[in-house]
Amino acid sequence: MNQHVLVLNCGSSSIKFAIIDAETGAAPLQGIAENLGAHNAQLRYSFDGKKTAIELSDNTNHKEALASIGRVLKQHDALQSSIIAVGHRVVHGGERFEQSCLIDPLVKEGIRDLAKMAPLHNLAHVAGIESAQDAFPDLPQVAVFDTAYFQTLPKHAYLYALPYALYEQHGIRKYGFHGSSHHFVSHEAARLLNKGIGQCNLITAHLGNGCSITAIKQGKAIDTSMGFTPLEGLVMGTRCGDIDPSVATFLIESLDYSAAQVSALMNKQSGLQGISQLSNDCRTLEEQQALGNENAKLALDMFVHRLVKYIGSYIALVGPLDALVFTGGIGENSSYIRQQTIAQLAHMGFSLDETLNAETRFGRSGRISDATSKSVFAIATNEEWVIAKDTIHCAFKA
Ligand code: ADP
Repeated sequence: MNQHVLVLNCGSSSIKFAIIDAETGAAPLQGIAENLGAHNAQLRYSFDGKKTAIELSDNTNHKEALASIGRVLKQHDALQSSIIAVGHRVVHGGERFEQSCLIDPLVKEGIRDLAKMAPLHNLAHVAGIESAQDAFPDLPQVAVFDTAYFQTLPKHAYLYALPYALYEQHGIRKYGFHGSSHHFVSHEAARLLNKGIGQCNLITAHLGNGCSITAIKQGKAIDTSMGFTPLEGLVMGTRCGDIDPSVATFLIESLDYSAAQVSALMNKQSGLQGISQLSNDCRTLEEQQALGNENAKLALDMFVHRLVKYIGSYIALVGPLDALVFTGGIGENSSYIRQQTIAQLAHMGFSLDETLNAETRFGRSGRISDATSKSVFAIATNEEWVIAKDTIHCAFKA
C-alpha cells in the first residue's frame, strides 16, 4: 500500500480530516468531527465511499474528537499503518512562516502568536496540533500555511498605503489565503497547457464559501484578492469583500455598532447572504433567481461583477494570459457563474464551449473554453494533496 498522510484542518468547532495517498492524492478515508463544544457533536466519515456517522458525547473537545478519529483509523488496520505523518492546515503564517515546517514548540508558539491576526483560526489550529500530538505521538507533525504561497508577492502589491510604521511594527499588510488551492490548480493548469509552471501567466479564481483570486506571472503569485484577513476582495458567501473602510467607522460612530458587531456584520451577515437575504449558497440563489427572485439575481450579479473586475485588473498585471482557472465549490460546479463571467469578458478574447461548460462539473476538470478563446479551465482543487506532499517533504526530505 502507498504511504499516506493524515491531513487535519482544525477549526474552532470542527475538525476536517482526510487520509491522503501521497502518490496519487486520493482520499480513501475522509470526514469531519463537527459541533465540537456543543450538544450535538458528531463524527461523519466516508471510507471507500461508504458513509458512517457517530454521535459524540456533549461538549466533545478537540482532544476527544481526535481520539475518536484515532479509533476510526484503528478499524482500518492496513490504512492506519500506512500513515507516516500528520499535516495541519494553518490559516495564518504571517511573515514568520515563509514555508511549511515541522512542528516543534517554537513553531507552535509562533502559530499561537499569530492568533492576533486570525484569532478564530490559529487558536483552533494550536488546540488541534496539541490534540494530534497526544493522539498520534509517534508521527511527525507538519504545519502547512495558507499564506505561504503568497510569499512571492512584491512589496508594492502586499503593502497597504497606510503609514509604513504600521507594517513595520504590527505586520499590517496583505497576506493572501487559499494558498494550497491556488498552488494546486496553477500546477494542474500548467500540466493541461503542457508548459512548465515557470512559463505560465495565470489567473486562478477559488470560488467557494470564501472566494479569492490570484494573479500568477511566470509561475509566481504577484497579487491576490484576500488581504490582512480573508475578508478582502471578492463577494463571498457571507463576507462583503472590498468595501470603503469608512463604512466601518460610520457604523461605529453613527450607528453605535461595536467593533465586534462590525466584524460579525462583514464576515457573517454580508456577501451573497446579506444581499439576497435568502442564502449564502450559490445553488439556492441560482434556483431562486430562475424562479424570478430579484434579490437572488442581484446577489449573483454583484458576485460576477466583482469577479469580472478582478479578472480584468489581473490581466493587466500578468501580461499575455495562458489560462483563467475556476475552482472551489462554485468555480468547479456552477456553469451559470462561469457562463455569466465569461460572457462579460468576450471583448477580451474569452468564450466558452457550452457543452464543455455544462459537463465539466462534479469533480471533472478540464478546458471549458472554445477553440477561438483564450484558455479557460475548471479544475477540481485538491488542497489536501498539496498539504500531504509538503508534509512528507518537511518530515523526511528537508
Ligand atoms: P468552502 O469554502 O466552505 O470549502 P466550497 O468550496 O465547498 O466551500 O463551496 C461552497 C459553495 O459552492 C456554495 O456556495 C455552494 O452553493 C457552491 N456549489 C456547490 N455545488 C454547486 C453547484 N452544483 N452549482 C452551484 N454552486 C455550487
